Amino acid sequence: MNKISIIVPCYNEEEVISLFYTETCKTVTAIPEVTYEFIFVDDGSKDHTLDILRLICYQDKNCHYLSFSRNFGKEAAMYAGLKQATGDYCVIMDADLQHPPKLLAPMYYALSQEGYDCCGGKRVGRSGDGALRSALSRSFYHVIQKLTHMNMNDGDGDFRMMNRTMTEAILQMKEYNRYTKGIFSFVGFETKWLEFENVERVAGKTKWNLGSLFSYAFDGILSFSTAPLKISGILGIFLLLLSCFLGASAFIQQVFFHQSISSLYLVIGIVVFLSSLQMLMVFILGEYLSKDYLENKKRPLYIIREQN
Ligand code: UDP
Ligand code: MG
Repeated sequence: MNKISIIVPCYNEEEVISLFYTETCKTVTAIPEVTYEFIFVDDGSKDHTLDILRLICYQDKNCHYLSFSRNFGKEAAMYAGLKQATGDYCVIMDADLQHPPKLLAPMYYALSQEGYDCCGGKRVGRSGDGALRSALSRSFYHVIQKLTHMNMNDGDGDFRMMNRTMTEAILQMKEYNRYTKGIFSFVGFETKWLEFENVERVAGKTKWNLGSLFSYAFDGILSFSTAPLKISGILGIFLLLLSCFLGASAFIQQVFFHQSISSLYLVIGIVVFLSSLQMLMVFILGEYLSKDYLENKKRPLYIIREQN
């Protein structure tokens, strides 16, 4: 018998958590020949989420909860849940029923019968989200793909079922600033995608606002790309070329046309030249910093998928 671990990060979800549990339980128990466990991670909720979780876990011995001392964020909650999970397959689900439980069975079959390591839900449409949020999100994924050269797409969320090998690989990534979408992409593995229509949360409120989304997006870029550190290099080269051009044109004016050069022109040339040197020095510092930054994350050098 295979066991599916359902990991649920919960932050102030008192309005939906019971409904989530009953709906998801119905679906997972309908899959033949599997056992299940729920790992609820209460991420420092300030409402009655924890009381409800205690009750659910008291009534169903397949349910477990952990409760954080304060709000540590969804990334930390997902990591904690994966660490506690004992199943052959682990799936991460939002508590608000935006991740349809009916996908659990096809996800399970993709892993257990079709040989995939991971099966993810791909959200299509953004009917529940505002136009601004959708547009910003799309542009963000465009930028992050370019900067990190990794496969991260709008719609590929955290809702995915993984086998044990992939789960262990993710647990090996112990970095403090976690950007799980990037981590999924970093560890690789064969992934199947199942599309689902975006729906609004059943009850309760989203925990994200535009500010926190921006900071999450910025974290994502910084966690997987050191490209921003190279901006000073590009700027430095541009300024160096500009100062060469200014110098050369001053030289030509004086030598060939016998025109005197204004002192303002000279000052500008010198300032541009010195700025270019500064920028290039910052770039070199950045290169050392980026090496050290990646070294510090202690990411695995490789991940084995299979061996005999
Ligand atoms: N969540 C969490 N900690 C947080 C914020 C959110 O554990 O600090 C959980 C939340 O309870 C939900 C999931 O992460 O189960 C997704 O959150 P939400 O629905 O607010 O995000 P959205 O769907 O709007 O992106
Ligand atoms: Mg949601």
